[in-house]
Amino acid sequence: RGTARVRMAVRSNAVSVAPILTKLQKDCATPLPVLRHVADAMAADMRGGLAVDGGSDLKMILSYVNSLPSGNEKGLFYALDLGGTNFRVLRVQLGGKDERVIDTEFEQVSIPQELMFGTSEELFDFIASGLAKFAQKEGGKFHLPRGRKREIGFTFSFPVKQTSIDSGILMKWTKGFAVSGTAGKDVVACLNEAMERQKLDMRVSALVNDTVGTLAGARYWDDDVMVAVILGTGTNACYVEQVDAIPKLQGPKSLSGRTIINTEWGAFSKGLPLTEFDRDMDAASINLGEQIFEKTISGMYLGEIARRVLLKLAEAGALFGEAVPEKLTTPFILRTPDLCAMQQDNSNDMKAVESILYDVAGVESNLSARKIVIEVCDTIVKRGGRLAGAGIVGILQKMEDDAKGIVFGKRTVVAMDGGLYEHYPQYRRYLQDAVTELLGLEISKNVVIEHSKDGSGIGAALLAAANSQYEHDF
Ligand code: BGC
Ligand code: MG
Repeated sequence: RGTARVRMAVRSNAVSVAPILTKLQKDCATPLPVLRHVADAMAADMRGGLAVDGGSDLKMILSYVNSLPSGNEKGLFYALDLGGTNFRVLRVQLGGKDERVIDTEFEQVSIPQELMFGTSEELFDFIASGLAKFAQKEGGKFHLPRGRKREIGFTFSFPVKQTSIDSGILMKWTKGFAVSGTAGKDVVACLNEAMERQKLDMRVSALVNDTVGTLAGARYWDDDVMVAVILGTGTNACYVEQVDAIPKLQGPKSLSGRTIINTEWGAFSKGLPLTEFDRDMDAASINLGEQIFEKTISGMYLGEIARRVLLKLAEAGALFGEAVPEKLTTPFILRTPDLCAMQQDNSNDMKAVESILYDVAGVESNLSARKIVIEVCDTIVKRGGRLAGAGIVGILQKMEDDAKGIVFGKRTVVAMDGGLYEHYPQYRRYLQDAVTELLGLEISKNVVIEHSKDGSGIGAALLAAANSQYEHDF
């Protein structure tokens, strides 16, 4: 009897669900020509953004990093990381060429939701007080010469128009942050003011994007690192660029040789295969029309896109029974880690899928509904991973076109960080597949995508060291 019921359910699901699912898969399809088009458009937008500010969707922000980590960095440094879900503080003792990283300690707290919608002072007070508490735990372990401040590398993972290595103006918030009073301000000044309120006497020596921190951190160990990508709550990429190849950098140049460019590729939008669900999600977002690439490929949004598809399927008919489950109508109730957990269920009865759907979305599902849910997740995740891969190839292609052989002719490392990449094996595989398809087997052997876990903290500390205002002799 059980089987009969399942079979009937399969039939009724199939009737109402099939056209919606087929359309979704068609709209999300990323065959090679689509990927190639995205990679080319990414490369073209990079050039546009390097030519002149506002020249394309990509801001191509100067990091003002003058030298990449050498290994000789020495001394005690702090790093602060504000970016997505968590806030992190780090203390690192750098020992120079032979000893490298002598010691690190770090703490992490999740950012209270209300701070994401509060005032700038509240947010920066939270950061400064976290830093103050952490700094206190140093407990007399290090003795700095009189008058010398502890120096910080500040990783701030939002689009910031840098004005120097240690200052920069927030252009806009992303990733669901809507803090009032920060946009248009120098975020280092905001932090300094908050540190004064805490009576904390430290100095920001480097302000860096998380991609830039990741690149610096990975480069410290490996000279072949040329690109860094974050695939987490949000997404972004940076790379090593020749100063001569940055036309918008005019006048007396404070930079020479090579520097790092923060692409802010989350704002990319050309040629992406989008669906009605993407458009609706964008329309309901707090940053309408912005961060379209990010909304298509990053961790904050994949779960929400899937929820919208499932809701439409539920409304259309028999997927989850007669009534539309109430919880499923709540935006962002289904999170990317839920999709990931469901996709790891390879069992025949898909019991894990059943219980996640029930716990998270209040949905009761039969086996055929669970299968459809997984197909939906996979469609969204596949598109995301493959487009991320195309973006990476676009960057590599641009570098290679500027100097033949520089990336494809030898080992080139793409340092990767972020929870989406780290925790979602299917996403990772789709990304790698797209890179291999686009570059071909031979060239793609030279391109190594390497997970660089939490590298941005050390990276920011290294850049603080490189830009220290003191001699480091202790
Ligand atoms: C921000 C970038 C950041 C990325 C990853 C995006 O939303 O605009 O600055 O690097 O998220 O954290
Ligand atoms: Mg981060």
